[in-house]
Amino acid sequence: MTDTAFNSLKLHPDLLKNIESLGYQSMTEIQAQSLPAILQGKDVIAQGKTGSGKTAAFGLGLLNKLDVKKFRIQTLVLCPTRELADQVAVELRKLARTIHNIKILTLCGGVPIGKQIDSLYHGAHIIVGTPGRIEDHLNRGTLTFEHVDTFVLDEADRMLEMGFQSAIDAVTDVLPTARQTLLFSATYPDKIEAISRKIMQNPLMVKVEASH
Ligand code: ADP
Ligand code: MG
Repeated sequence: MTDTAFNSLKLHPDLLKNIESLGYQSMTEIQAQSLPAILQGKDVIAQGKTGSGKTAAFGLGLLNKLDVKKFRIQTLVLCPTRELADQVAVELRKLARTIHNIKILTLCGGVPIGKQIDSLYHGAHIIVGTPGRIEDHLNRGTLTFEHVDTFVLDEADRMLEMGFQSAIDAVTDVLPTARQTLLFSATYPDKIEAISRKIMQNPLMVKVEASH
């Protein structure tokens, strides 16, 4: 049996305290199966239905690793749509409540680019965005990723369905190769397998059928 107690993990005490105050009593199945490996720095592919708690699985991993004193972009999370990116940012901010001065920035299409460039000028620890807009910033030179050590592809199957393959490739090309890559998806079509072979190293595969 997998241990589902959050305190069985090597999580920072502040994060554990916050999980408790959020009322999360135990890990969901996908969290229990993926978090130990994520916290060890491994690449992980996690497949599970909507509502299975995937955001906290990668969120706790990346927050536990992040050094808030180093004010530079350490994490990039790609999402298929602005709505999903906003949801991920809300969940990450909730999980990060006890980490003071953490800056999480969303960069999505449909928002004036000038405002985003101003926000980028002020810096961030975590970027959550859509592949097209992130690629746009890279092309303009308004965004660089030399200190990113965690790369998350959330809802990877949807991103590929929406035609983001080439934008994902362009973004991945400029990320440091020494990084942890986490891929989350509801389904696992051949295209996902192909991309994971290209951008991940010896990933652990986790698959959860039911939502809990
Ligand atoms: P998914 O991305 O797999 O569709 P989410 O990450 O959006 O799912 O999580 C669904 C909901 O479950 C969110 O409201 C989240 O706050 C909540 N949640 C996540 N993990 C736990 C947990 N361990 N215990 C209770 N609620 C949780
Ligand atoms: Mg999700």
